[in-house]
Formats: sequence, C-alpha cells, structure tokens
Amino acid sequence: MAGKVIPLVAGNWKMNGLSGSVGELGKMIAGAGPLAGKAELMVCPPATLIATFAQAARGSGLTIGGQDCHALASGAHTGDIAPEMLADAGAKAAIVGHSERRTDHHETDAQVRAKAMGAWRAGLTAIVCVGEHRGERETGETLRVVGRQLAGSLPDGSTAANLVVAYEPVWAIGTGLTPTPADVAEVHGFIRRQLAERFGSEGDGIRILYGGSVKPSNAKELMTVAHVNGALVGGASLKADDFLGIAKVYL
Ligand code: PEP
Repeated sequence: MAGKVIPLVAGNWKMNGLSGSVGELGKMIAGAGPLAGKAELMVCPPATLIATFAQAARGSGLTIGGQDCHALASGAHTGDIAPEMLADAGAKAAIVGHSERRTDHHETDAQVRAKAMGAWRAGLTAIVCVGEHRGERETGETLRVVGRQLAGSLPDGSTAANLVVAYEPVWAIGTGLTPTPADVAEVHGFIRRQLAERFGSEGDGIRILYGGSVKPSNAKELMTVAHVNGALVGGASLKADDFLGIAKVYL
C-alpha cells in the first residue's frame, strides 16, 4: 500500500470563469500554503484558463486540472482537447466521466475508461467520477450502479498515483442536498473494497473523493467519514473563501 493518503480538495469550475478570475485563484494559491503536507488543493477551470492558471500557480501548493479530455492525442475531433494539450498547458490531472458529461454528451463507461487511459498517456492523473441518479438511490440500486461504473470506467493498471475516484451522487450535485454520513460511509466503503479487490494493495491508497453540494458548513461531517479522502467541489469552489473554508477541515 502507498504511504499516508494525503487528501485532495479539487474545485470543478465547470463553464464559469474569465481571465479576470485569476484574482480569485490568487487567493486560493495563498490559502494552499498552510495546507502543505496536510492536503492538496486543485482547481479545474475551463480549458481557456488552464494555461493562465497553471502559470499563476507554478511553484505553489495548488495544481491545475482539466474538466474533460479526449482519449486520443491528436486528430480530426473539432472542439475536443487532447490530454497532451492539457499537460502542455500545465494541467496535472483531468476529470473524466463527470455526470454532466455522461448526461449532456452521453458518455459511456467505455469512453470514460479510454479517456482515463489517454490522461495517463499524457502523464495526467485521471479523476474518474461515478454516482447514482435519484431514482436509482430510491430503488436501492446505488451500489449496483456504482459497481458497474467502477468496473467499466477504471482502466487496468490503476494506482494511487494515476487515479482518483470521485463519488458524486447525481441528485446531490448543485442541489444543496447531500447523502447522510452513513450513506456516504456505505458507498465509500464499497468503493474501497472494489478498489482493493481489483488493484490489490494499490487500491488502499487510491483517493476517493466525495462530491455533491459540499460547502464549508457541511465539509467537516462529510470529510471525516471513513474512506473519504477529500472533496470534488463545484459551486463552492468559485469563491476562495468558500473553497478554502472547505479545505480548512484538514488544517
Ligand atoms: C460537481 O459538479 O462536481 C459538484 C460536486 O458540484 P456542486 O459542488 O456544485 O454540487
């Protein structure tokens, strides 16, 4: 098993942010200093801002990630971005399989797996998102759905260094709703067992983030659940005070 698991607090800015947002990023970079050795901070801005943000964050404790990537390194794919392009712009990771991509762009588990492998090829960490819809939770299918997504989306060869899993119940994203700590514990414990079964001792060190309406006021109760190794944060990652207010759980 990898050594101590350092939690990761990653912000997904989605389709938000313009060049002037680098000022807000600056406050986040400043807030990353005291977290050194305790937790890692990452911001995943829109692709248009990756190079600017990576330049601003260079040498700091905050890293930059992409929100998606194509599986291939180059080619005739209008509007898509290759993992190699993200890496060239200064990104260290790429989110793949976010529920908004799975829904809006009909991405399948097989496509998500191919994107994760593309991310690895470019030297990026893949942050693979999984999570059930509201109806699936209500009918008791959560673990079956998450198990199927893990089996289909995670490539062979996943390690603590190249993979982060984000459990994001779709019904909790952007709604203000969150699962109970007991429900989070059940799913994260399940994911940990799946990772250990498939990847052996490496599976113990793979970080499992919780995502879905995390904010400063609920961060402590969610982040202290067993096998929660950080957060993937949407709305509350746009403002430095909120984002750092979540990360300070680890100070
Ligand atoms: C997300 O989209 O990954 C997310 C967790 O969003 P929010 O924090 O806004 O629910």
